[in-house]
Amino acid sequence: SLLSSQSIPTPTTPYVMKTPKLPDSHRKKILITGGAGFVGSHLVDKLMQEGHEVIVLDNFFTGQKKNIMHWMQHPNFSLIVHDVTEPITLELDQIYHLACPASPPHYQYNPVKTIKTSTMGTINMLGLAKRVKARMLLTSTSEIYGDPKEHPQKESYWGNVNTVGPRSCYDEGKRVAETMMYSYRNQNNVDVRVARIFNTFGPRMHPNDGRVVSNFIIQSLQNKPMTIYGDGKNTRSFQYVSDLVDGLHALMNGDYDMPVNLGNPDEFTVGDFAQKIKTMTNSESEVLFLEKSQDDPTQRRPAIETAKEKIGWEPKVHVDEGLKHAIKYFKRVLDADGEIIPT
Ligand code: NAD
Ligand code: UDP
Repeated sequence: SLLSSQSIPTPTTPYVMKTPKLPDSHRKKILITGGAGFVGSHLVDKLMQEGHEVIVLDNFFTGQKKNIMHWMQHPNFSLIVHDVTEPITLELDQIYHLACPASPPHYQYNPVKTIKTSTMGTINMLGLAKRVKARMLLTSTSEIYGDPKEHPQKESYWGNVNTVGPRSCYDEGKRVAETMMYSYRNQNNVDVRVARIFNTFGPRMHPNDGRVVSNFIIQSLQNKPMTIYGDGKNTRSFQYVSDLVDGLHALMNGDYDMPVNLGNPDEFTVGDFAQKIKTMTNSESEVLFLEKSQDDPTQRRPAIETAKEKIGWEPKVHVDEGLKHAIKYFKRVLDADGEIIPT
């Protein structure tokens, strides 16, 4: 017969990661847009490990299938390859809306697409949240404070953003996304949460992401020049990804619905940060001063009193500890992929 002449593969049971079995009343259906990206994939891990049903929606612009590969066979996990700028109909209880390129080279690669992702994408997700009465969390950014004239930055600060500079597609996109969240809350009773995330690092960062942590670690591991844009006196505060994921979870599941900064107040000049990474990697790299990037914020540090008071969250991982994990991760990436020339 036709059947016997074909070689029919024998079904094998794929290895499936174990997760707790939650009673139906506790198990939520949770959508994570941008769930194949750096932050999103760590959030997927946390929510899957709690026993929820997780749907990742991603267009794989900067996300990678390998970040979520370990869940692909799990019955509680689904992947939808889709662009948030197009509407979608789903049934769910919570939406974590992360979809948006986050590193300056990525979001500046196609600024029109970046602005569409923040505006049309957020409108689509808010429309979905409204229809199914889901709670929705937006991952906004410290960039909404622009080049801040207040230091550290509290949530009450309105910011100092150039509307027409190279960073504006991202900054203004997130600002209007925040505005949309509160318009839908006020007009349509959508239950909203807004996280303003400060610089975050850790495993699964895209090696070609162009952000300072990945660039410095990759350069120093290869004993190549460490590129400082400007004089290196500008500052940033760096948080490890597991702290951010805990903060997003606490915010989503708490009662507070105004914007909350999530970041580690440990502040460094970019020059000192380069030295720190050079020492930690035992590197022989030189430091190379390049032209300052346009509109680069000169200082940035989160005030985290709101997070402490309203959602009982503060970062736990010291930057040095986080950097050890990140360095180990980038060593593995370099071993697997060979030479990497950061953007
Ligand atoms: P990332 O680039 O790794 O992840 C973004 C994900 O969104 C990717 O998987 C990408 O493919 C997906 N995506 C982009 N455009 C899309 C579209 N139109 N439709 C569907 N999917 C799309 O970045 P990340 O660092 O994980 O950032 C996640 C979120 O956190 C972003 O919203 C970012 O603005 C915010 N954030 C991150 C940081 C940080 O330091 N990592 C700081 C502030 C804010
Ligand atoms: N930066 C740098 N060298 C690099 C990458 C970044 O000096 O190779 C600087 C950048 O100009 C900025 C800071 O490091 O002042 C943080 O940049 P990043 O792109 O990581 O994030 P941003 O906070 O600017 O979004």
